[in-house]
Amino acid sequence: MTIHLDCLGSGWAFSTGSYWNGWLLDRRILLDCPSQALVHLYRLGITAADLDLVLLTHEHDDHVGGVDALMLDLHHRHREALDHRIGIAVAEGVYQRLERNLHGHAHFLGRDDEAVRWFEPRDGDAFEHRDASVEVVAMRHSVPDNGYRVHLDGGVVAYTGDTSPGDHILRLAEGADVLIVECGGAFPGVHCSWADLRELRAELTPATAMLVTHYDATSVPDDIAAIEGLELAVDFGRYDYGS
Ligand SMILES: [Zn+2]
Ligand SMILES: [Zn+2]
Repeated sequence: MTIHLDCLGSGWAFSTGSYWNGWLLDRRILLDCPSQALVHLYRLGITAADLDLVLLTHEHDDHVGGVDALMLDLHHRHREALDHRIGIAVAEGVYQRLERNLHGHAHFLGRDDEAVRWFEPRDGDAFEHRDASVEVVAMRHSVPDNGYRVHLDGGVVAYTGDTSPGDHILRLAEGADVLIVECGGAFPGVHCSWADLRELRAELTPATAMLVTHYDATSVPDDIAAIEGLELAVDFGRYDYGS
């Protein structure tokens, strides 16, 4: 079992030169969909129709800003050839935001569209789509945010989206091969700080790798890279975990 992750972007919401945070798991599961997602998928040789699942953590633009372009591409270029339904999982409020943004546009793939299958899970829910099974743990942010635990090929990837620190992250990461965790900075109650991540790394089992994303590249402490079991994601980085 090997878990492969491609980093589509490692930055936070504010521009400091990095692309907005987003991930491609095993070349077929999208973890959030920032504005540049479609372009970066293309660079990886992946089209929208190659995706099995799109897991959207919450409604903020740095996490869903690329959904419009993704749906446009699916609707106009791939609908005829699509041989499976693409699962889209969303936290509370995300569907409504997308529907508002795309109201009246033919390419909005809503709940009644056969190209997609919507999941709207909440804390403690689980669902399956194709060969992936996904559990949801609610994160703590300024809006509802689903953390996702993705079981795939015998491995587990945990992904926070945006969250403040707390035991909910440990629940999300339990038994995971890798935890992809945000570091949105000093916004108490909304994001994790570098200090929070140091504490989190100490509390996590060593068997779970910690991959830090959604960070301000101008704020990285000098000694952070020396912490064992913690890796700073970079744009276009490729990461493998498992045996
Ligand atoms: Zn964010
Ligand atoms: Zn956010």
